[in-house]
Amino acid sequence: MLKNCITCGKQTKEFSEFPCPGCATLLVRCKHCRLISNPYKCKKCGIDGP
Ligand SMILES: [Zn+2]
Ligand SMILES: [Zn+2]
Repeated sequence: MLKNCITCGKQTKEFSEFPCPGCATLLVRCKHCRLISNPYKCKKCGIDGP
């Protein structure tokens, strides 16, 4: 199953999902972005984090 990484926008099958600390929406981040600690930004509430 492919999902879009919230940080880089690429489709990936190696991702991690976690709830947004602000609104609990599930955010998807690819392995690469997680490894290099790319920041993410929630589309829904605008919160961002490492
Ligand atoms: Zn990514
Ligand atoms: Zn959010």
